[in-house]
Amino acid sequence: MSYCVKHATTFHTQTCERCSDESTIARLTAEAERLSARCVTLETAALKVIEFNLREANDRYRDANRANDWACVRVLRAALHNDLAPPAKEDSDG
Ligand SMILES: [Zn+2]
Repeated sequence: MSYCVKHATTFHTQTCERCSDESTIARLTAEAERLSARCVTLETAALKVIEFNLREANDRYRDANRANDWACVRVLRAALHNDLAPPAKEDSDG
């Protein structure tokens, strides 16, 4: 039997259960923060790509709305709106 000074408790396993829980929480919190930052980066990139496409449509056709039909814009908007289903197979038209 071992004794955890921090939690003033005895334990029979390799680590005090509460120390183990704290370690898990710290690890998951760090992972959540990492993923959250990654999400912001990807969201910012997606919005930029949509904007580039709107500009391209405007330059090409004097109509930015044409980009709304382009596959890349549709896929990015679906992802931004939390449609987590993987994008359907697209024809290679955009
Ligand atoms: Zn402990």
